[in-house]
Formats: sequence, C-alpha cells, structure tokens
Amino acid sequence: MSAAKKAPAKTTAAVKKATVAPRKATAAVKKAAPAVKKAAPAKTVAKKPPAKSNESQTALVRRARRINRELAEVYPYAHPELDFENPFQLVVATVLSAQTTDLRVNQTTPALFAKYPTPEDLAAANPEEVEEILRPTGFFRAKTKSVIGLSKALVEQFGGEVPGRLEDLVKLPGVGRKTAFVVLGNAFGRPGITVDTHFQRLVRRWQWTDETDPDKIEAAIGALFPKSEWTDLSHHVIWHGRRICHARKPACGACPITPLCPAYGEGETDPEKARKLLKYEKGGFPGQRLNPPQAYLDAGGKPAPPLGAG
Ligand code: SF4
Repeated sequence: MSAAKKAPAKTTAAVKKATVAPRKATAAVKKAAPAVKKAAPAKTVAKKPPAKSNESQTALVRRARRINRELAEVYPYAHPELDFENPFQLVVATVLSAQTTDLRVNQTTPALFAKYPTPEDLAAANPEEVEEILRPTGFFRAKTKSVIGLSKALVEQFGGEVPGRLEDLVKLPGVGRKTAFVVLGNAFGRPGITVDTHFQRLVRRWQWTDETDPDKIEAAIGALFPKSEWTDLSHHVIWHGRRICHARKPACGACPITPLCPAYGEGETDPEKARKLLKYEKGGFPGQRLNPPQAYLDAGGKPAPPLGAG
C-alpha cells in the first residue's frame, strides 16, 4: 500500500524514462520508439494508483481496459512467440513449451518438424529418436510421450487434423485449457485467454482478480473484456510480463502504466536502474521467434538466433 502511494510523485519521471529508453537502441529498434512514446498519455489518467478495496467494478473494468489499451500501444506487434506454420505445429510447440522458454522450443522444433511434418509421421516415430531431438527442451522423455500420444490421438480420433473446438482439444493427451486457448486463439482465430505464469502474476499485481486457480482467473478476466479482445489481451499481458513486469524484479521505474498499477514500487523504481532491467526489443535484444511476423520486424524487432548461434 505504501508503495502504491509513492507512485504519483515518480510517475512522470518513470514514464519519461520509458520514452527515452529506445533512443539508446540500434537504428532498427529506434523505429519502435513511436509505439513506446504513445504510452506517455497514461501519466495524465490517474493521479493515484487505485486500491482494490475502494474500486468499484465499473472503475475496475475501465482501468483494466485502459491498461490493455496502453499496452496495445507499447506492443502493437505483440504475437505468439512460438514459431508455427499450422495448427499441428502450434499444438506440439505449446506442449513442448512447458518448463522452458519459447526461444528454446523455437530452436528445437525446426528439426522435429523437418523429420516429422505431419501427425501421421510423429505418431509412427521411434520414441528414442524423438527424445534426442527434444532433449534441449527439458523433460524430454515425458514430452516425447506427450507429442507422440497427441499425434496418435489426432490420427485416430480426428483424421489427422487438429480440431478447432475447445471441448475436443482438451481431450488430447497433454493438452489443457491453456494450450487449447493458445491454439484456438492463434491458429483458428477464436478468442481465448491464455492464463500462463506471466498472466497470473500480472493480473494479480494489477488487482484485476484475487483468484489463484487458472480457470477462475480466466473467467474473472474474461468478464472484464469483450470476447473479441481476449487473444490480443493475452499477448499484451504476457509480453509486458516478459519484457518489463518481471517475476523477481519488475522494472517499475521504466514502466509505461505506472499510474494505473497498484503494485508500483514492487520492483525497481529508479528510472536508470529500471531501464537496465528491460528485456528484448526495448533494450535492443531480439524476440523469441526465429521467424517473427513482419509487423514485429517492421517495428524494429529482431529474430532470435538459431540454436548454437550464441
Ligand atoms: S512493472 Fe509491473 S508492478 Fe511495476 S508498475 Fe509496471 S505493471 Fe506495475
């Protein structure tokens, strides 16, 4: 609470620094600056970060949507960070992403899909050979079992196609609601909220909900936004969690939504120190995809390096 009260005094400096950050980046990254600068208007919105106990449901809905709009301006090119070319590749990549980074998965899946391009191929694969390919993603034996089992189920129950319905997807081995929503939202264009670790942490910091169970979080947040915004909302929140609002040390001093955040002060508030905590494109680093969408490249983002490139 006391941290929240401190926010207004430092907000202007914090937001100013956020707009300054890209200037140090490469020429390519500088192109992203206008998007970041647009975050500045947030400083005029609220004089004081709201306290949950005093906030009405209407005010919460307004603040939540405002945060999403601000993040949409900061990350106009937010996208799923797993490389995929079709629903089969996305469902497999999402299963593999448990307990590891999307970058590691992206560095691993090209070899997997080159050797086993279809569910039929993977269903008939020699597990030991698949394990060798998946070794870098960790838990590779369990993951091998999952993706082979998943491929068999696709072949036996769905004619070798990934189904486009939640109720079918969650019946596949290794596929829970989170994975199903990633696939529905990004491979089928059907709205879904992806409650991953970043999403859970941030919505609690923002006091959008007190729920801790992912299904209840999904329902609570779904009620704050129109369905059509669910998929993009998930990307914005996850990108913010990966780049600025980190688990251990959120970069509060360089965060563009401080006036809207009750957890301001939970992380580093000194603008200079906070700026050093920024990750990926804001600090001139690459994103996680080897083949990112053109919008990301146009905004100054860089593709991730292939495995072994350092
Ligand atoms: S970094 Fe996170 S905790 Fe800090 S002000 Fe931004 S959203 Fe809030």
